[in-house]
Amino acid sequence: MVGTGILKGMAVTLRNFAGSYFEKDRLTTVQYPEERIPLPENYRNFPILIYDGTDPQAGLRCVACKICEKECPPQCIYIIKSDDKKPDYMGKPQLYPKVFDIDISVCMSCQICVEVCPFEAIKMDKDFELSKRERFDALLLRKEELSKSNEYYHRIHPIEAAAVDKNLADAAAAAEAKKKAAAEAAAKAAAAKAAATTARPASAELRRGESTAAPGEAPPATPDKPATT
Ligand code: SF4
Ligand code: SF4
Repeated sequence: MVGTGILKGMAVTLRNFAGSYFEKDRLTTVQYPEERIPLPENYRNFPILIYDGTDPQAGLRCVACKICEKECPPQCIYIIKSDDKKPDYMGKPQLYPKVFDIDISVCMSCQICVEVCPFEAIKMDKDFELSKRERFDALLLRKEELSKSNEYYHRIHPIEAAAVDKNLADAAAAAEAKKKAAAEAAAKAAAAKAAATTARPASAELRRGESTAAPGEAPPATPDKPATT
């Protein structure tokens, strides 16, 4: 019958309206901004730069490799590399971004920058209250505004951040094991070289002994080679 669908829809609406007075789950709206629905783990908005420790500049994970800048589809990332280096999270000297800007009026929240970053340095924020009166410069976020602590990252994406921490710890442990193995190999090689150097004078001595015998005369006796008659 024509209109049955409308009546069924109205019945669902009526049931939810009346039920919302008795069942909290039927309430689909909240009193924003006083009340807020928790955002899901994989919600994303605009990128941020993660730093370790308490100093945003010293702990910044970004090494200014510019991969994200090249891969960003609308080209809204702008990076200038530093002239000097600072230690990364493994203590290795690395460049860092002297300038790192993201124009969020252009960013389309695709997360490609996050996917391509080999250093777990750029992640997606969940902050969506970013409206500004000024259209241009206010929407160009600088390195200082983009830098967020690893604790903040854990608060907004707890599962993802824990997995990233584990990856970084594994990578640091693997690098440490490789360094240790290389040091052991170098120590072994040095010991072998030292042993060869101490053995060489003895054999040279033997050779000298052979050469002191006159032509046609039997060489003098050596510990492992008796004199011939
Ligand atoms: S989220 Fe996408 S558009 Fe935005 S900065 Fe990253 S790569 Fe560019
Ligand atoms: S955020 Fe990552 S990909 Fe982009 S420049 Fe820094 S280290 Fe490279």
